[in-house]
Amino acid sequence: MIRMSNKTFSVGRCCWVAILGAAFLLGQTAGADGEAPMQRTQAPGFYRMMLGDFEITALFDGVIDLDAALLKNLSQGETDALLKRALIADSHKVPTATNACLINTGAKLVLVDAGGGTTFGRGLGHLRENLEAAGYRPSQVDAVLITHLHFDHGGGLIDAHGESAFPNAVVYLAKAENDYWLSEAEPDVPAVYKDVFKKARKLSRDAAKPYVDSSRWKTLEDGSLAISGIKPVAIPSHTPGHTAYEVQSKGQTLLIVGDTVHFAAVQFARPDAAVAFDVDPKQAVATREALFRRIADGKTFVADMHAPFPGIGRLRSDGKNAYAWIPVEYSPLPKPAHEQMSGR
Ligand SMILES: [Zn+2]
Repeated sequence: MIRMSNKTFSVGRCCWVAILGAAFLLGQTAGADGEAPMQRTQAPGFYRMMLGDFEITALFDGVIDLDAALLKNLSQGETDALLKRALIADSHKVPTATNACLINTGAKLVLVDAGGGTTFGRGLGHLRENLEAAGYRPSQVDAVLITHLHFDHGGGLIDAHGESAFPNAVVYLAKAENDYWLSEAEPDVPAVYKDVFKKARKLSRDAAKPYVDSSRWKTLEDGSLAISGIKPVAIPSHTPGHTAYEVQSKGQTLLIVGDTVHFAAVQFARPDAAVAFDVDPKQAVATREALFRRIADGKTFVADMHAPFPGIGRLRSDGKNAYAWIPVEYSPLPKPAHEQMSGR
């Protein structure tokens, strides 16, 4: 009935009101009973931002608990006060993310660090699933740049069968790092650490093997890293060849600083705090302090592999030799230039 006499309209309207009312009540009933099942899954572990023309994707590899007893140079009271300020209840279990960073320059797909792979049980080793959730495949990665060869960064270079996890990538790292971790010589460390070092060196050699065997393992000193917009910066101390990567596009800078900070609740406020697994703790402190002085300009983006995910933020000076970490915001990406031009 199309004719909209007062009577017809009134009957039609009643029908619609009844249908909508029933639907509303059904919805109310489902919600009120609380029957919507919990999903119990986390959002995929990637975070995206643009840096000039480069697309940056932070990738989550997992989380491990670190014991604050690993910290050096602070009194117990100083450490406890900083942990308390961050509402960390158990100083023996400080949740610590492990991150990696993927850079799409438009010409090259570059991964910085590979996560822990199978070396940390279920705690780490989620990089691949998050890389895929972010829209990429391991076979698309052209280069993997290693900040250092601790196995929470190099373990993910290989899969569970010891095969190359990035079948088309060339791996780059500092020569000092290569020589230190791939050596088969007796480690020059106190007796108590000897077995740990031997194990770490074996894991490093295993991770490197498929790349070495296929001539895809290169040291930075040979000048072979020719990726426009990405430059290695030596920051030795945590390990002998610890390397940062400076990424620049259209006047914006991201400095990927590897393991400059392990305990975010402590070491931004107190960069003089070292950790027990710094190979040279004294130099680690000097390097961190000099680096923070240089990048606490409020503009430079910083990616730290153990800062809370996504591990990207900026530094603000917060007193003499003290800094505050300002994490990036979750936000939509700007539209590509060609879509802006066409008004899409
Ligand atoms: Zn690490």
